[in-house]
Amino acid sequence: MQNKKVRTRFAPSPTGFMHIGNLRTALYEYLVAKSNDGDFVLRIEDTDRERYVDTAVDVIYKTLESAGLQHDEGPDKPKEYGPYVQSERLDMYKPYAEQLIKEGKAYRCFCSKERLESLKDDDTPGGGYDRHCRDLPQEEIDRLLAEGVPYVIRQKMPLDGKTTFTDAVFGEITVENSELQDQILIKTDGYPTYNFANVIDDHTMNITHVVRGSEYLSSTPKYNLLYEAFGWEIPTYIHLPLIMGKDADGNIAKLSKRHGSTGFEDLVNEGYLPQAIINYVALLGWCPENNQEIFTLEELTKAFKIEGISKSPSIFDYDKLEWFNAEYIRRMSADEFTRYAMPYYKEVVKTKDLDWNKVTDILHQRVTKFTQIPEMIDFLEALPEYEADMFVNKKSKTNLENAPVMLSKVTENLKSLESWDKDSIHDCLINLAAELEVKNGTVMWPARIAAAGKKVTPGGAVEILDILGREESLKRLETGLEKLGN
Ligand code: GLU
Repeated sequence: MQNKKVRTRFAPSPTGFMHIGNLRTALYEYLVAKSNDGDFVLRIEDTDRERYVDTAVDVIYKTLESAGLQHDEGPDKPKEYGPYVQSERLDMYKPYAEQLIKEGKAYRCFCSKERLESLKDDDTPGGGYDRHCRDLPQEEIDRLLAEGVPYVIRQKMPLDGKTTFTDAVFGEITVENSELQDQILIKTDGYPTYNFANVIDDHTMNITHVVRGSEYLSSTPKYNLLYEAFGWEIPTYIHLPLIMGKDADGNIAKLSKRHGSTGFEDLVNEGYLPQAIINYVALLGWCPENNQEIFTLEELTKAFKIEGISKSPSIFDYDKLEWFNAEYIRRMSADEFTRYAMPYYKEVVKTKDLDWNKVTDILHQRVTKFTQIPEMIDFLEALPEYEADMFVNKKSKTNLENAPVMLSKVTENLKSLESWDKDSIHDCLINLAAELEVKNGTVMWPARIAAAGKKVTPGGAVEILDILGREESLKRLETGLEKLGN
């Protein structure tokens, strides 16, 4: 394979959403190509019409785009290897199968469905089909063809010996040829089987590296026998380990809905950033040479090596993904954070035009997912209903006796502030605590409860009062006093 330009392909079937495993395949295909100055090709494998979902192609484009995995060729960027949609390639395949028939490497099989069904109960070697038509006399074939009996085209698998290949991740794999069925290449309707089409496609598209899930490992010897039958160069295979999930009881099982979202779009909707997802997914089965965890796509491209891919199943850990997400959020500039957060701000703060930079100040270091924001700041829109006993707090040494005293002093002093800003509010409250000879918390707690109406808030009394502004703050402090019976 020396000096051949590296070409990889992502070949999703448009069956619905983009599973995290598919995204990882796409990412590794991209990285194998880009780390070798190669091409990353998108091919849509849409021939399974029963599983076809109309909107799925769109999802594929959107996902690649938001994940930053730009393809060099594809249905929307055709180059000389097109078409890039399998259903548009359908008439390409049969001539290849006919070539194999001519060379004595494949044959027409006229067996009826009923006959094949009846074989299922036999212990026929080769897993089902007894190779009945493999050596039909030519006159018989001609007669059946003339009669228009439907047929499939099957490959003549070797009857003995072994097929061995080396996978870049799983190492050397050997199967006994006698275990391989004479696989169908072309179905009765003239269309190729998936096994046949993908080999023809990969070869005619000059694909050098095939990255796919390990569920394809057992089919690979069959693909190789096809490459050999044609005398074509076999691509480098990179099979990826399964992605697992952890059940509540600690058991490990194939990742599924019960573990959490398994689709890229769903994770994004849950508040994970595309870059954080990509970064995390990169490390699901691949290990850099050092212990670096945070990677841009560009850094991944530089660091990625096929040898770093592991064959042991990786566990999708939602907490770890959240950690990555938090890292990405923290590394944003305040402006960027505000831009991302704005739809979440507006979701709950509908009637007020707050100073959003100040809201960002109290949230930026606390948020691990943007979807947490509405619940964190809903009190800014309207004071929630709350009970007076919320003013009681042991650590701040507040109780129902001193809270009204503190709160009325706070209200009085804040009222006389000339300028309503963070520093002035801060100094005012701190000075008050000093003057009354109480802990700062004894002043701050009731002030914050009155301002927010809830115990857990991002930011303290000072920040919240500043954001709310003078008029709204004073109104809320009065409400607090009323609740305390003043
Ligand atoms: N269309 C196949 C899938 O989505 C692709 C398998 C392959 O990469 O060859 O599973």
